[in-house]
Formats: sequence, structure tokens, C-alpha cells
Amino acid sequence: MKNYDYIIIGSGIAGLYDALLFKDHGSVLIITKGSIDECNTKHAQGGIAAAISSIDSPELHFKDTIAAGAGLCDPEAVRILTEEAADRIADLVKLGVPFDTVNGEIALTKEAAHSVPRILHAGGDATGERIEVTLSNAARASRAITIFEYFLATEILVKNNKVYGVAALDLRSGTREEFNCRNLILATGGVGRLFKITTNPDIATGDGVALAYRTGAEIIDMEFFQFHPTALRMPGVPLFLISEAVRGEGGVLRNVRGERFMKKYSPQGELAPRDVVARGIVAEMKETGANRVFLDVTHLPARILSARFPQIYRFCLDHGLDITTSLIPVVPAAHYSMGGVKTNYWGETNVEGLFASGEVASTGVHGANRLASNSLLEVLVFGKRIVERTLRGNAHLKATPSPDVYTLKKRDTSDINDTTLNVTALQSLLWDNVGIVRSGKELEEAADTLAAWEKQLEPATDRPSYELANMVTVGRLMAEAALIREESRGAHYRSDFPNASNAWLKHIVFRKKAAKSQK
Ligand SMILES: Cc1cc2nc3c(=O)[nH]c(=O)nc-3n(C[C@H](O)[C@H](O)[C@H](O)COP(=O)(O)OP(=O)(O)OC[C@H]3O[C@@H](n4cnc5c(N)ncnc54)[C@H](O)[C@@H]3O)c2cc1C
Repeated sequence: MKNYDYIIIGSGIAGLYDALLFKDHGSVLIITKGSIDECNTKHAQGGIAAAISSIDSPELHFKDTIAAGAGLCDPEAVRILTEEAADRIADLVKLGVPFDTVNGEIALTKEAAHSVPRILHAGGDATGERIEVTLSNAARASRAITIFEYFLATEILVKNNKVYGVAALDLRSGTREEFNCRNLILATGGVGRLFKITTNPDIATGDGVALAYRTGAEIIDMEFFQFHPTALRMPGVPLFLISEAVRGEGGVLRNVRGERFMKKYSPQGELAPRDVVARGIVAEMKETGANRVFLDVTHLPARILSARFPQIYRFCLDHGLDITTSLIPVVPAAHYSMGGVKTNYWGETNVEGLFASGEVASTGVHGANRLASNSLLEVLVFGKRIVERTLRGNAHLKATPSPDVYTLKKRDTSDINDTTLNVTALQSLLWDNVGIVRSGKELEEAADTLAAWEKQLEPATDRPSYELANMVTVGRLMAEAALIREESRGAHYRSDFPNASNAWLKHIVFRKKAAKSQK
């Protein structure tokens, strides 16, 4: 068994940024299940939020973040996020990320629910790609960082309640390997592939949440999942995100009758929070009997569109759609997980030696809904804190367990008729029953079906079977959490409980071995 000071699972911004910080303090291994750049990060378009302009301040960024989180942000985590933002942006600049500039100053754009322009971007709408390329080149160039591509992490190794390593499947040879470490950092990204319609690439199957849950880590806020309002929908064309920044720059939404409709749903119109816009679109599609709405940017200057959104402009043009003259057909799509592995302000989970960073983690900054472009920032701010924490050499690197947690209850699955389990069936179930608009009946049905599927799972042997098992576990956590929360708040909307309730100003935390059973 090989030994490392730090093992990081995942090679998106979270994994790479921490690897580059750790490399001066010990040996680092990155395990990643695809090629190094297969990740959500590469697809990020809009940018990174940070209060760096003269008309902005961490306090204003704090207020906007808290407002988007609908009562469930952890104010201290948000304070850390917004106050440490500028320093972390400076780190990225030092690492060579080429942010766009205007007259020598970093260019900033506005996105929904931000009070001022504060989104840094690179290559126009290629922010994630520029970050991924810059960081992966730096990681590859470092002799202190070993990178194993096509290695799937399958189990977190624990002894005496302390993490000592990870088991992984070498996807090329099919052999199982074990690696030892002092600190294990989960940087496995999101869970978007649980849904039929998603902006997330293939890797986003929730592996980190499932691995951590099985290890006894606490999983929090799984009912809060963000649906992005605008993904390109054209027959035969892969789903493609149309960034929020397009609406920020003046894009408007129209129904299939050509009418603008967002003011019906929010005084903020197209720049309302994502959940409001997504539900507005769903309602409008229902009312007009259409399977899409349109994003209209034809009134904006063509040269600005092609310069500011080169990826979107080019992608659409390559598929026969000139956005400067034609409407863009769009639908909402599964996008971002606010919930995940619960961490404290130092990225520590309740399991000693186990840290979580990036989309897999839930640090408390997003609450019930993420403010656009806060996720890349969260990775940097809390990723840096993980490094600082491990360097302190404290023997007890773990968060205090939550006092009040749920366990998954046993479900009677004898009545479930359709028990065909495959990825497509799971994605349809989650989209239909745990999607943008939920109800108790549909959530019960989903939870029962997922519980029946859990019983059917054969021991996993390859990447698809491991991922399927992980998706069933994560899907169940989402459905159960959404069922427990009998109210609507942020990204979680229940048609049977359409209002927010003060009684629910609290979090739902699951732990495998818990003190209290689910009601
Ligand atoms: C289309 C799109 C646009 C977005 N735009 C923005 C934006 O403008 N601004 C913003 O702030 N956020 C944006 N986001 C969200 C943001 O990109 C992600 O939250 C962020 O990149 C997550 O980074 P990460 O490193 O945590 O995860 P990822 O970048 O997804 O990396 C996860 C890594 O873990 C690996 N992995 C997973 N499971 C395993 C396993 N079992 N074994 C080994 N390796 C594993 C994957 O292969 C991958 O390398 C966007 C997301 C998408 C999908």
C-alpha cells in the first residue's frame, strides 16, 4: 500500500486548488475517475463572485447571499466567504488564471440576485475551462503531486473511527488498489446526473456523498437542489447551459406566443432568483402547452454577444442557431447541489481525517438556494481553510457531530410493482418526482422505489455499477429529505406545502448510525 500525506479524490477546481496548496507541505495524490479535466468545473460559464469593485463590499455580497439562501445560510460561513473572497481571487490570479479585463481592471458582470456587477469571468463565458486548464497544467508540472486518472474511489478506509486511506478501482486494469494517507479530501463534485435533464457532465453521480454517508459522515440539506432556468433545448443537440449572465446582460424570456412573462412571477423579472425563474418557466410551459420557452437576445448588439459569450454563440451557431437573430429555445435543467457532506468552517466532516471541498461539501454558505457564481468562490475560500487546518497538526481533525440527526427509515417495498433498475429509470424518477415542483405523494413514491432498488443492487464491480449504487443512495437521501421538509423554501418547492414555515428554519441532517429515527 502506498502512503501519501494528502489524498484528494477529484480533479475539478476543488481537487486541483487544494493539491497546489498542499504540494509545499507533503506528498499529494489525486485520484480521478476520468481524464483530469472531466468535471463540472470545466463547464462553468458565468464566473466567480467577489466584492472587488469600488461600488461593492463584502457586506453587500453578504446581504445578497443571505437573501438568496432564504433563511438557512450559516451567517458566519457567509461572512467568511465574502470577506476572504478577494484574497482567494488574488491566489487564482497568481496561479495564472487569465480573468478578462477592461482598461487594465478586472471586468465584472452582473448576475441574478446580485445587487451590483461582481462576477469575474475569463475567456468571456469560458471561465471554468480557463480555470481547469490553468490549474491542471500547474498540477501536472509539480513533482510533489501524483495524478492517477481513470481511478474510481470506491471506499473510504476507516480504522478506530479515523480515516487512513481510500480504496480505488483502476478502471484500465480492473484491479482494486488501496492508498494510505493522513488526510483524505473528498472533491468529487455534484449530483446532477441523478436527473433526466441536467447541465452536469457524466461524472456528477454523487459518489462523494454516497462514500461519505457509508463512512458515517453527516449529510445535510439534500432537499435543496438548484435547477438552472435556461438550458438550450434543441432536438438532437446535447443539453447546453445558457449562462445566467446572458439575462444579466439584458436577455429576456418569452413564451412560445412571444410574450414576456417573468414579471407575472416576480417584480425582479428575468433577474429573480433561479428557483423563481425556473418555476415561472415551468408554469408558462404548462399554460401554453409547450415543452420550452425562449431566451431572446436579438435586441442586443451582435458584436457584444459574440465577444461576451463566445462559447454560447459558437455552440449555438455550430448547431444552426444564430442567437443574434433567432430566439434561443430553453428549458430548466438540474444544475447544482446545495446539500452534501456537512463540514465546519475548516472543511472538516464529523469523521476524523475526512475533509470535503467543493460541490460535494455543504459548508453552510448557500442555505436553501445558491447565489449565482458563489460556488467556485466557496471552493477557494473553504479549500484554503482545509489546508490551513491540516497544517496546524492538531490530532483531532474533525467537526463536532450534530446533536439532532435523522436515519433512513425502513420502507415496506412489497407493493412496488415496477422495480426495473437502471440509470435511465432512476433519472426519470428523480426528474418526475423529486424535481422542480414536488408533492408528498410523489416523494413517497420515489422514496419507496429507491428503497426497493437499494435491495436489488448487486455488489458493484465496475464504474457503471458503482455509480448506480451511489446514485440510488444519494437519490434516496434527496427524496427522504424533501419529504420530511413540509414547506417550500428556496429551491425546494412543495405544491402541497407552498409556503415557508418558521417551524422549518432548521436543517435536515442524515447520518447512517444516528441517534434519532426518521418520523
Ligand atoms: C454547466 C455549468 C455551469 C456552471 N457555471 C458556474 C459559474 O459560472 N459559477 C460558479 O460559481 N459555478 C458554476 N457552476 C458550478 C461549479 O462549476 C461547480 O460547483 C464546481 O465547478 C464544482 O467543482 P468541484 O471541484 O467541486 O467538482 P467537479 O469540478 O465536478 O470535479 C469533481 C471531480 O471528482 C471526480 N470524481 C467524482 N467521483 C469520483 C470517484 N468516485 N472517484 C474518483 N474521482 C471522482 C470527477 O471525475 C471530477 O474530476 C456551473 C456548473 C455547471 C455544470
